[in-house]
Amino acid sequence: MTHNNQQKPVAGEPGVPALHRNPRKGECQACGLPLQNARRKYCSRACREKLVYKLDVATNLLRAIHTRYATFSFTGRTLALNVVVWGASEVYSFFWEREAGAKPADDLARLTEELGREWWRKQNQSNSRHQAAWHVLGMAKTRLVPLGQVRPVSVYSPRVPSRYLTVLKLSSDDLFSENPGVAIKSAFRRQAHNHHPDKNGDARMFRELHQAYMELLAWARDPLVRNRQGLPQKWCYNGRRWVPPMVP
Ligand SMILES: [Zn+2]
Repeated sequence: MTHNNQQKPVAGEPGVPALHRNPRKGECQACGLPLQNARRKYCSRACREKLVYKLDVATNLLRAIHTRYATFSFTGRTLALNVVVWGASEVYSFFWEREAGAKPADDLARLTEELGREWWRKQNQSNSRHQAAWHVLGMAKTRLVPLGQVRPVSVYSPRVPSRYLTVLKLSSDDLFSENPGVAIKSAFRRQAHNHHPDKNGDARMFRELHQAYMELLAWARDPLVRNRQGLPQKWCYNGRRWVPPMVP
C-alpha cells in the first residue's frame, strides 16, 4: 500500500536533510506557519499546547529507548527526531515524511505511534525491553548528525537590574564592560552631582540614586544569572523535559 510506504520513517533517505532546523523568527515554533505578529513565538496558545502535549506523549517512547537527550525539528516536508541514548555517543535520527495539511504535532504523534508499535511488537516477541529498545534504535539512521547538535547547552543569561540602570542612566553594556565598578561609580558621581540636596537637588531622588548605586555594585561583584538548558531553533529533550527552541 503506497500510503503505508510513505508513512514509514524515512531514515536518511536521499534528499532528507540531516541538518534540520525549526521555523525561523516570524514563524510559529510549533507549526511553522507565518506569524501575524513577528514578535510572538506561536500562532496561538492552542497550537503550542498541542505540540507540547504530543512531545510529552513521545517522552514515554524516548524513555523506553534509553534516551538521554533528543531534539525535535521539522520542515514543510519532514520531521526529524534525533536521539542520544545513555552510554553511546552516536546520534540516532528518525525522519518522517509529513502529511499534507497536518500539523507537525499530528505528524509527530504518527511517528511516535509507529515507533511505539515496533517497540511493543519486539517486546512481546522477545520479552525483553532492552531488545525492544535496540530494535527501535535499529530503525534509525546514524552518523548523520553530530552529537553537539543534540546535546543541550547551558545558556547563562544575566538578570540585568534594569530599574537601577535607568536611575543611574547606565546601559547594560556598562555592566559587562571590563571594569563595571568604575562605570557604576562614575555614573553615580555624575548623577549625584546633579541631584545632591546641598545643591538644591531632590532628597528622595538622591536616596534612590544611592540605592541604585549600592545595588549595582553588589550585582557587579556577584551577578545574578539565569541558567537555561536547550538548543537554538530546536525543541530539545534534556533528559527531564522538553524545552522550546531558544531564540537568539
Ligand atoms: Zn502554530
